Amino acid sequence: ISCPTCGRTEIDLFALLRAVEERLAGTAAPIRVAVMGCVVNGPGEAREADIGLAGGRDKGIIFRKGEVVRVARGQEALLAAFMEELQQLLDGDENRAVRGAGPA
Ligand code: SF4
Repeated sequence: ISCPTCGRTEIDLFALLRAVEERLAGTAAPIRVAVMGCVVNGPGEAREADIGLAGGRDKGIIFRKGEVVRVARGQEALLAAFMEELQQLLDGDENRAVRGAGPA
């Protein structure tokens, strides 16, 4: 999910969105991912997302279920930090799936 953008948008939301969509292409994990345009309202508006990022002029944040888990300065650093967190989340899902697939 992505915010519709508004006057509060402080980053190049569509560039971030493209990068995140490219990363998730072909991923079957049932996760909800949010790309939001501002740190003030982004985490709250996307609190149902398993993971999300929100950009800010000075710093951006990564959040999981509305809770901030990382802060990064600059759009590139924000995207890199987000990709790391996303990978951790995907790895966790795969591990849970593997554990759940074993004999009871
Ligand atoms: S998350 Fe921020 S930029 Fe996006 S629509 Fe909401 S208030 Fe506007």
